[in-house]
Amino acid sequence: MSLQELLTKAYIGGSWRAGRGGTFPVYDPATGEEITRVADCTVEDLDEAIEAASEAYSSWRHTTVKQRATLLHKIQVALLDNKDTIATTLTRENGKPKAEAAGEVMFAASFFEWFAEETRRQYGETIPSAAATKRMITVRQPVGVAAVITPWNFPIAMLARKVSAALAAGCTCVIKPAEDTPLVALAFAKVCESVGVPVGVVNVVPCSRGRVQQIGSRLCESPKVHILSFTGSTAVGKWLYSRCGSTLKKVSLELGGDAPFIVFPSANMDTAIAGTMVCKFRNTGQTCVTANRIFVHESVYEEFVSRLAKTMDSELKVGNGLDLGVNQGPIINQRQLERLDKMVRETVSAGAQVVRGGASQGGLYYAPTLLTGVTPDMALAKNEIFGPVAPIIKFSTEEEVVSLANTTDRGLAGYFYSNDLSQVWRVAEALEVGMVGVNEGLLSTCEAPFGGFKHSGLGKEGSKHGLDEYSNLKYICFGV
Ligand code: ADP
Repeated sequence: MSLQELLTKAYIGGSWRAGRGGTFPVYDPATGEEITRVADCTVEDLDEAIEAASEAYSSWRHTTVKQRATLLHKIQVALLDNKDTIATTLTRENGKPKAEAAGEVMFAASFFEWFAEETRRQYGETIPSAAATKRMITVRQPVGVAAVITPWNFPIAMLARKVSAALAAGCTCVIKPAEDTPLVALAFAKVCESVGVPVGVVNVVPCSRGRVQQIGSRLCESPKVHILSFTGSTAVGKWLYSRCGSTLKKVSLELGGDAPFIVFPSANMDTAIAGTMVCKFRNTGQTCVTANRIFVHESVYEEFVSRLAKTMDSELKVGNGLDLGVNQGPIINQRQLERLDKMVRETVSAGAQVVRGGASQGGLYYAPTLLTGVTPDMALAKNEIFGPVAPIIKFSTEEEVVSLANTTDRGLAGYFYSNDLSQVWRVAEALEVGMVGVNEGLLSTCEAPFGGFKHSGLGKEGSKHGLDEYSNLKYICFGV
């Protein structure tokens, strides 16, 4: 078995197994065709994976940082060596354009490189003691078995951002990939197997949507799982969080966003348009940090709208992600497409004007859409859009726009374009979000902390802070 063929079995305790629940289909969103069927794991299968991860933890936790760093580097290299194969699988199951898929594999690999380096810097402290007879230090220790639940929009990168930190800290993992995109997670398991990750350290347990609640409950409630790391919708995140209470697990949650994207009068218009394009249309708008509400100052509104429309016309090409030149793939599935279409229709019937697009284009394709005259009470301004739809909202003052930007219970990312230095400081500090882009539409990188405020989640991923999620701080006091 190699990465050249599609891997469809679960990976539990170092062996490739059928699921006790049979199989479930994985579809290509570009064509609607079934790509293959994947093992549908039951709670019994999951229990075996948790057992395997627990057993592996007893030795993995004692590996040296050098040993873990070496293995993480090998995973990084193997991901890069197999970039093209994994990217093709990713495009087939997710629909994203091949170039973006290849970029995502590189992004995933970057986390293994980063945490291979960070694992060697898990320093403790020496604490000056107030008592002459005591010496005090802190050390970091791994938390234990990590449950990793990943989404379909960045199925290899989100997995990598969690698993790299978990392994670096000395944890073992049970991964439950999204049912739309289990194939790259299984490819990742193959990569781990091929570079010699010890048996049970990484387990992948796919399951169908019908079984996800049972699997989710068990991951939350098992006393043998010590941290739950989830990326997905706010609703599911809250459900999982409440379920983790019984075992008082650590949780790391990366949930939905509602990013404001603000264009002030002093903005450089070229930069603002380029930022809008990348922030809004990357992954066909299906990112949690995408520009969800685009606020444009009344003095530059007309210019911004006409330039954005022209840029959309010249730069966006919708189609099958495997075709050269395509940069807008399909929406992931029918459910998401219908959700998106309904929001657009509601917004238009509430009075917004369609400048571009505004409808589905057959299959799961949705036309890149630009709407003006959107007001904060309309459907598109109140919900996470998750599609290639740019709603433009006009504003008059900084005070007004900051207040509107913060009128949401989610606070993941926020962006604004301004060349007024005082305004830059004021607005960067005032936005109630975990990440701010100032004259920049692309934020995510392994070196910086990713995470939200309010209902957008708990904890940080990537950066030196990402390791903290997977380790406990222990204080040791010596009497002398
Ligand atoms: P979306 O609605 O975009 O598919 P979800 O939050 O439903 O986003 O999905 C993100 C991940 O959460 C997927 O892996 C999905 O299978 C998983 N998931 C959904 N519901 C549950 C649940 N009740 N327990 C555990 N995982 C779940």
